[in-house]
Amino acid sequence: MLRGSPERELAAWWEAEAVAATKAQAAKEQVRVDPGAAGEPERKAGEEQPKEPVPAPPCAAEEGDARILPRPPPTLPVSLTKPEPASGLCPHGKSRIKGRSCKRSSGQPDEYCSLRPVTVDSSKARTSLDALKISIRQLKWKEFPFGRRLPCDIYWHGVSFHDNDIFSGQVNKFPGMTEMVRKITLSRAVRIMQNLFPEEYNFYPRSWILPDEFQLFVAQVQMVKDGDPSWKPTFIVKPDSGCQGDGIYLIKDPSDIRLSATLQSRPAVVQEYICKPLLIDKLKFDIRLYVLLKSLEPLEIYIAKDGLSRFCTEPYQEPSPKNLHHIFMHLTNYSLNIHSGNFIHSDSTSTGSKRTFSSILYRLSSKGVDIKKVWSDIISLVIKTVIALTPELKVFYQSDIPAGRPGPTCFQILGFDILLMKNLKPILLEVNANPSMRIEHEQELSPGVFENVPSLVDEEVKVAVIRDTLRLMDPLKKRRESQSQLLGKPLASKENPPHSDLASASRGNANPDAHLPSICLKQVFPKYAKQFNYLRLVDRMANLFIRFLGIKGTMKLGPTGFRTFIRNCKLSSSSLSMAAVDILYIDITRRWNSMTMDQRDSGMCLQAFVEAFFYLAQRKFKMLPLHEQVASLIDLCEYHLSLQDEKRLVCGRSGISSGSRLQPSATPQEAAPPAPPAEGRPQPCTDGAHKVSHSRHSLS
Ligand code: ADP
Repeated sequence: MLRGSPERELAAWWEAEAVAATKAQAAKEQVRVDPGAAGEPERKAGEEQPKEPVPAPPCAAEEGDARILPRPPPTLPVSLTKPEPASGLCPHGKSRIKGRSCKRSSGQPDEYCSLRPVTVDSSKARTSLDALKISIRQLKWKEFPFGRRLPCDIYWHGVSFHDNDIFSGQVNKFPGMTEMVRKITLSRAVRIMQNLFPEEYNFYPRSWILPDEFQLFVAQVQMVKDGDPSWKPTFIVKPDSGCQGDGIYLIKDPSDIRLSATLQSRPAVVQEYICKPLLIDKLKFDIRLYVLLKSLEPLEIYIAKDGLSRFCTEPYQEPSPKNLHHIFMHLTNYSLNIHSGNFIHSDSTSTGSKRTFSSILYRLSSKGVDIKKVWSDIISLVIKTVIALTPELKVFYQSDIPAGRPGPTCFQILGFDILLMKNLKPILLEVNANPSMRIEHEQELSPGVFENVPSLVDEEVKVAVIRDTLRLMDPLKKRRESQSQLLGKPLASKENPPHSDLASASRGNANPDAHLPSICLKQVFPKYAKQFNYLRLVDRMANLFIRFLGIKGTMKLGPTGFRTFIRNCKLSSSSLSMAAVDILYIDITRRWNSMTMDQRDSGMCLQAFVEAFFYLAQRKFKMLPLHEQVASLIDLCEYHLSLQDEKRLVCGRSGISSGSRLQPSATPQEAAPPAPPAEGRPQPCTDGAHKVSHSRHSLS
């Protein structure tokens, strides 16, 4: 259970925001389906029946990792084109002349109007291009579909940060994100957190990494079976590099022959299979939620109010040797189920094989389910998962965009795949760095004739996510706001809406966003930082790690860096000699490098550093639980480093050379030194990673 009952606080979010979405859904339901049938487990009488088998598209791309998929034709279905709101008026109501040259009626140049439109390079948008085009049009921004010689404000990439060399603006990918959310890396990152906070991270199924942990897997399964002979588990094996259900299978026992084949061929994760999922219409389904990582430092996370639910196409039964191979029963991937004859394309967002998440919540609430609790549990899951991912992302970031060098700032939309258990507990299945943003699907119009047709459910959810991500990242927003303040005319906001666009336009203070719906992305961090900051221990370890990396651009700590870390943090003692420190470094580094087979550069990776840190913490603070041991050691390290920084600052100010090179301060957090631990002893961390403590030592 989280401290300070964040569930209750988080639930308020649902109350304020998402209830509105379910109410809107309810209104739609009144029109579309028989309201009395909502919540019934059976397929409703009026609901669409399975259609004729839909032949598989050449590459069904939905909701998986889009990295390997070809770009669809860049045409926009006519039916998707929304009418241009405010009919090309400039913000004060006059028609635009070539988009930009509008003057205020006073005759003065209207700085507000003269702001150029935000520019977006969409040349690498790939499968998200259609949704992106609609979003840019709705925002009245300027798209550069073939790129631009001059820099753009925003670069929208379909695949990864490394798509191109960009030195300014904002790009919709973080360096290293694709690597971080791969099945093995995600499992490792979550496992570190599970070691520190087992209760808080029990939303991720127990996982083992193959082939390294095969023996451990066999031993642990045997141990549980010995303790409880009635335990009949099922496991799901997922290849590390797979996506869209590719290569996934279920097994009942570690001795399964297919597992031996996987061990020989490719790295994978084997995971406890969740046998009792929540069913709707007797079908298993999962949830795709869109999460915006707006910034790493400071951490800013937003969650979209609505997502998608993807349904299996064969009624669910608990796994048995007879049905283990039934992929349409056990795997919810759209890319697989679209091949099933039972797949239902629907024009409604609340029926068919793909629906909005809000339609599911509406249906559950009509059954009396506490959907506020469901929603707050999901928010917790998302924040905790991002907290597990950010430490290594920071290492990637400083390596790709070293401080002081020109580079873009980053943001990224992530696709969280979540399964609800029968008891409504959300379980994290995976995180997608490139969630599909396609808004059409392929349909067979007549035998052998295929056409891409708009998918309403996709458009409703995905266009809102892209458009509102752009709104949040709008680089000119601050300038517009400050110019508006200069003019003494506050922008109309959703909280303080104008009577009408035209009325406010005629007053000259139109909000260019006034014609848009309220933002569908809600901030959850730092909004709920207080409840979650205590979990950010690895983040603080990453700050220490980055500080001692030395040469910018590397991701691994050399032996000298590790020694300097030990010395500067005063961790060596009579019982931990520097020779023992060297052995510790060699042992752990060698093991991690052989495990990850990462030959890019030699040295200690962050995860190896974390392992070494745990070891040192356990030695130093024997009697405490692990997370307190670790927090105490972090406090101690931060304390000693802050004293050094202060000393150097004082020397610097008084013109005395300290004789040693200043360590680069890795993060803003390190700029403010922590207060010394009470009575010279470290205190357990209470307020988490962003504890900006004020030194009691005067600087002058
Ligand atoms: P992929 O990237 O190939 O889609 P996922 O991890 O998303 O891999 O797994 C594919 C599907 O398998 C999921 O959509 C879900 O339906 C099912 N699945 C995955 N892991 C589990 C699990 N631990 N328990 C139950 N079902 C699972």
